[in-house]
Amino acid sequence: MSETNPKLRAELEGIPTYKPGKPAAAGGPAAYKLSSNENPYPPLPGVLESVTAAAESFNRYPDMACTGLMNELSDRFGVPLSHLATGTGSVGVAQQLIQATAGPGDEVVYAWRSFEAYPIITQISGATSVRVPLTPGDVHDLDAMAAAITDRTRLVFVCNPNNPTGTVVRREELERFLDRVPADCLVVLDEAYREFIRDPEVPDGVELYRERPNVCVLRTFSKAYGLAGLRVGFAIAHEPVAAALRKTAVPFGVSQLAQEAAIASLRAEDELLGRVGSLVCERTRVSDALRAQGWTVPESQANFVWLRLGERTVDFAAACEQAGVVVRPFAGEGVRVTIGEAEANDIFLKVTEAFHKEL
Ligand code: PMP
Repeated sequence: MSETNPKLRAELEGIPTYKPGKPAAAGGPAAYKLSSNENPYPPLPGVLESVTAAAESFNRYPDMACTGLMNELSDRFGVPLSHLATGTGSVGVAQQLIQATAGPGDEVVYAWRSFEAYPIITQISGATSVRVPLTPGDVHDLDAMAAAITDRTRLVFVCNPNNPTGTVVRREELERFLDRVPADCLVVLDEAYREFIRDPEVPDGVELYRERPNVCVLRTFSKAYGLAGLRVGFAIAHEPVAAALRKTAVPFGVSQLAQEAAIASLRAEDELLGRVGSLVCERTRVSDALRAQGWTVPESQANFVWLRLGERTVDFAAACEQAGVVVRPFAGEGVRVTIGEAEANDIFLKVTEAFHKEL
């Protein structure tokens, strides 16, 4: 065997592999997984049926154009087919977006901390990440983000609500920010958690896209629609951008199972959004309980809450696991905890209560 390894791109060296939320250990003390912002409800029977029916022909490639799903989305959002693109989860579409806009020498601006995939997919493309710290209240600092845009900036991510803090940017400040972004720079409104928003001041990104050619909205079926395991997300963008997304897509990346499940989920939207309503009630219950225990918790508009724990983050995550729930630690910063089943949330609240007493 030769001692020489194949040459890999130098950019990859510093890139961490994306870390998924830890699973709940089979047979271990942690029975509930609150580490990946998943939907705790099992698939609806009708959705499961559509997947089972599609499975009968998985010897065939899927419909690469996602025709049925694109038609549903076009009707649902009142946008032309030419303004839609799908991908393997919205993270897949985010990667397509970067590939379509940025390469070596270009910059991608986003808030930090935010969704962990942004730095990874930016670095893979060879572009440079420009991270703009959140405000002390854990909100996007849109003024600083606007100031960070240069003539090399090709893409800006605005994660609304932000992962992992759950915080939002509201209409007025977002519009003011968009007014400051040059027309040749694409702004991606990452709305993975859109359906969990109850604050009426948060604009629907689709409305903003309608008025602005450089705005693109990113959505997913993974969260509110409960299809995380099937990998399907989509973008709504003006024609040149959407066309570029179709070019940068992995061919056949969205399976027929995923396409049929997404269509069935859109048709069962009332029931699925009812479940989202229950999760939002749980979010309120958990947030109120944390505040009553003495914690400072940013107002979350997503399906998770953020606890700043600093140096105690890792110990806290271990205590949660011991008590029966797996959470998502960001060492030295805090934990992000998905709103799950009521019993899982109760276990988490028991740990926070004990921990706060020790502080
Ligand atoms: N955007 C944000 C803000 C997220 O938190 C996630 C999932 N953690 C995604 C995009 C990607 O989700 P998916 O690829 O499952 O659509």
